[in-house]
Amino acid sequence: MSSINNNFIKHLKLTNNLLPTLEIMKERRYDLYGDVKCRMCLEENEDDDHLIYCQQLRDKWLMVANNTIHKCDQMLKDLLSQEKHLQLNQEDTQRLILWNRNFFIHITCSNQELPIPFIHLMLRNFFPKERYRKLKSIVKSEKATLTITTLFLEIFINEFYRIIWQPRCNLVTEWEHTKGIKKKDLKKKIPANQRITYERTPTQQVEGNTYDLKGRRILKHNEQWSIALEKTRQYVNQFIREGNRVIWKAYNNIKTYKYRYSSFSFV
Ligand SMILES: [Zn+2]
Repeated sequence: MSSINNNFIKHLKLTNNLLPTLEIMKERRYDLYGDVKCRMCLEENEDDDHLIYCQQLRDKWLMVANNTIHKCDQMLKDLLSQEKHLQLNQEDTQRLILWNRNFFIHITCSNQELPIPFIHLMLRNFFPKERYRKLKSIVKSEKATLTITTLFLEIFINEFYRIIWQPRCNLVTEWEHTKGIKKKDLKKKIPANQRITYERTPTQQVEGNTYDLKGRRILKHNEQWSIALEKTRQYVNQFIREGNRVIWKAYNNIKTYKYRYSSFSFV
């Protein structure tokens, strides 16, 4: 891996896999970024979801997928050639090669709108569970599975960086240049009273659930209801228990002698 990209991966890990998209720049410096749109399609706001769905990136995502598979094919062959890393029989070797080649084939339950399956997960450094299980059933070792999935993710992120993120940054830098925005402007802190707040919709979709930017799950309407009901139930129960305890205490004070040896309890 190139050192530039290692830094990029480190950056992603440090920022909790959040890319410094234009929407994030708007939150920081609305005065400079205003209502700038994605520099590739010039139509939509650029958040990390948009990087997945932007129409201008569809072909590039396919390229990312193809390159990832191609490079991982080589990586697997390297691992297999060094017996101390991975020892598989002929049949399992074949299954492993196929596992990789079919990695980005859409599975029936996956989100068909994605240009390639699993990007939304892998961009956040998650490895799809079902693919992980399949791999483990082939290599039959936790350690080998972890090694392969880690390398796979790194290759994927590397290709994303090279094919999508780097060219995207060049376009943004070009735009910033036309607006006279300089890197040193971005480092300057501006006084709170001069700050223009910009609030984007801070959500992300991961496998059917919606999360906010801190990774907290945002509850659906019915889930909120059931939690509210559960809280009410707990409250009522607690009230009954504590109410009883108070009553019990009062009762106890008066009739201690009567209950002293009884195992009966209100709680
Ligand atoms: Zn776009």
